[in-house]
This record gives sequence, structure tokens and C-alpha cells, in this order.
Amino acid sequence: MRIDDALVWAKFLLSTSDSPLLDAQVLLAHVLEKETVYLMTWPERDLSAEQKSAFEALVEQRLNGVPVAHLTGTREFWSLPLKVNDSTLIPRPDTEILVETALGFCAPNATILDLGTGTGAIILALASELPLATCCAVDFSDDAVQLARENAAMLNINNVTISQSDWFGSVQGQFDVIVSNPPYIDENDHHLKKGDVRFEPLSALVASENGLSDIRLIAQQARDYLNENGCLLIEHGFEQGNAVREIFSQLAYGNIKTIKDYGDNDRITIA
Ligand code: GLN
Repeated sequence: MRIDDALVWAKFLLSTSDSPLLDAQVLLAHVLEKETVYLMTWPERDLSAEQKSAFEALVEQRLNGVPVAHLTGTREFWSLPLKVNDSTLIPRPDTEILVETALGFCAPNATILDLGTGTGAIILALASELPLATCCAVDFSDDAVQLARENAAMLNINNVTISQSDWFGSVQGQFDVIVSNPPYIDENDHHLKKGDVRFEPLSALVASENGLSDIRLIAQQARDYLNENGCLLIEHGFEQGNAVREIFSQLAYGNIKTIKDYGDNDRITIA
């Protein structure tokens, strides 16, 4: 089977995905151990029998809903290729806006804390941009801590310390900037029954109080860990902007502001 024919076949089969052609390209490039541009450059090349059956097996798993990132074991975030597995959330493009916004509040030698780091996406992106910053990240899950450490090592990012902690439970020190993409989905949200989230840990997605309990807890405790004029940035659901601003203002934070995501929805609130 030729590369172009394999892509047409897979695109057709994956038509219920949001991005059938892209899924097919990423999976085939993964099998061939090439960049996706190779597929466009050599459409007439034939797959070997092993490549064809490996590709078919991946397409079948994708058809069953398994996220592309889990099938390839990697996801790019902030141009960093991150290892991904089923112990954490798969990094989302919208979370890059949190990184971009946080950078605006970070001096070159800032001290930065990331709560619930998962793959390490946010803190590794910040640390890669700010080599003189002191970066700390925590996660409740030992598997996530291990994965984030592997990502830091693989990317050769050395100004990050990653450790296990239940939110601020084992955190020590004061920070200029605290960031988090905590769980914020309500357990009854129909969104949890569709797409990649079905394969991600509920502990990284779901929070009580209509999804706001962890955001509230972080905001309450962050006050004790922020330096004077420090900054807290939290990602939240697109309908939670008002509620999060209210939580922040009840806790007497100042300069509260919500930033929109690529879809023009409320996504990050800063204080
Ligand atoms: N933004 C993710 C989603 O909607 C959820 C991320 C989270 O709960 N922190 O799928």
C-alpha cells in the first residue's frame, strides 16, 4: 500500500474524529518514524507489510477513541515534544495561553510554582523560556511526578524541581508567580463522555462545587505562598470566569483579570 492510499483509507475510517486527516498523518508518521512532512514529500512510497499492519492497528485503536497522543506516546506543547501517558491530562493548545500570559509577569530570575503539573507542560515551557528562573512543580500523583521528571530530563531543562504534593501540602518557600491548570469540570458535565477526556484520569479533570473546589482551595492557600506583588494565574472552564473572579475578589486579591482562549472563551484568570 502506498503512503497516499494509506492516508485516504485512514481518513475515511476516522471520519468521526474532529481531525481525521491529521490523526491519520500523525499516526502514519509515527509508524514510519518520520516527520509528517515526509508523507507529503513521498506520497508514492510503499509501506512494508509490518508498517501497514502497525498502521492498521493504530487506526483501529483510534477508531475506539484512544487519543492520538496516547498512541504515539507524545504531544507537542510550546514546541516541546513531551512524553504523555494515561496518568496525566494530555496538554491542550489553549494552555499555551497560560504560559504566554504568565511570561508577561515573570522577571528573568523569577521564582515560579506550578500546581498539578501533570506532564510538566506549563512549568517546562516557562523554564525553557526563563533559564535563570527558579521553577518548582508539584503533583498529587507519583506517576505524574515521574513523567514530568522524565520530560525535564529528556528536554535537558535543569532549572525545575518536581515533587509530590497534594496542592500546597508539601510546598515550601515563597513565589513570584503561581500557575495552575487544576481539575475544573463538574462530574455531571456531558463533555466527560466524549473524545480524549474519556481516556484521561478523572482526578485531573473533575472537581466538586460545579468544578470550582480546587480553584477555590488554591486561591485561598496561594496567598500565603506569594511574594508581595506576586501573581496567581489559573486556567478554568469557559463558563467559570465570573465565578473565579468572584472567588479571587472575596479573598481580597487585586488586579483581577480574565483572558480568553483561542476559541474566544474565558479561560484564564489572573490576580
Ligand atoms: N480543558 C480541558 C477540557 O476541557 C480540561 C482541563 C482541566 O480540567 N484542567 O477537556
